[in-house]
Amino acid sequence: MIIAIDGPAASGKSTTARRVAEELGITYLDTGAMYRAVTLAVLEQGIDIRDEAALKKLLSTLDLSLRTESGKTVITLNGRDVSERIRASDVTAHVSAVSAVPAVREAMVKLQRELGNRNDSVVEGRDIGTVVFPEADHKFYIVADYRTRAERRQKDLRQIGEERSLAELMEDLKRRDKKDSSRDHSPLKRAADAIVIDTSRLSIEEQVKIIVDKVKKGNS
Ligand code: C5P
Repeated sequence: MIIAIDGPAASGKSTTARRVAEELGITYLDTGAMYRAVTLAVLEQGIDIRDEAALKKLLSTLDLSLRTESGKTVITLNGRDVSERIRASDVTAHVSAVSAVPAVREAMVKLQRELGNRNDSVVEGRDIGTVVFPEADHKFYIVADYRTRAERRQKDLRQIGEERSLAELMEDLKRRDKKDSSRDHSPLKRAADAIVIDTSRLSIEEQVKIIVDKVKKGNS
């Protein structure tokens, strides 16, 4: 079984997806973390993303592994734990550009399909219900208003010691949404058959319950 959960940045989809997986006792796959890890590798190796040959070389040697530990995604890049590092602002600032490159998407989508098909999974991202698993058993598209999303992002960043203003974060989110929705390759888009959930005024518990109930009833 595949449950696809898509939506824009900081919409509450990661926390929801993780909890839904926990509640149903199935695997959680955070595809944003995969694009972030590739972005970190690109930054650290100083690769110009227009240099397709260099990018392909990097992708062919990239060793990514993901697992969930105490409800958190642990991601390693060539053996090194980068779970926290990939959440920092420098990675966030470049991830939309890196993930818009077709070679990057091809490599990641292939890996996501392999990982998702291994076990029943909740797969979370931007193009899961449209491109990666168009035949997913259940599809959800999570949205929230900009202010709520900026507040959530601010809270997340505080946990890794970064302080940013809400105004600045709202601008960042708008910029990232625009880039993610307007790219040619697999843009952020609701699948026609996805159920939309606006989490602006919902608690995490409520969001999780809505999804788990729908999955159990088989009507999503
Ligand atoms: O979900 P998260 O904010 O960690 O995702 C980081 C970025 O990775 C997104 O802004 C988007 O550019 C990219 N992404 C993507 N496709 C996915 C998941 C994430 O392009 N399936």
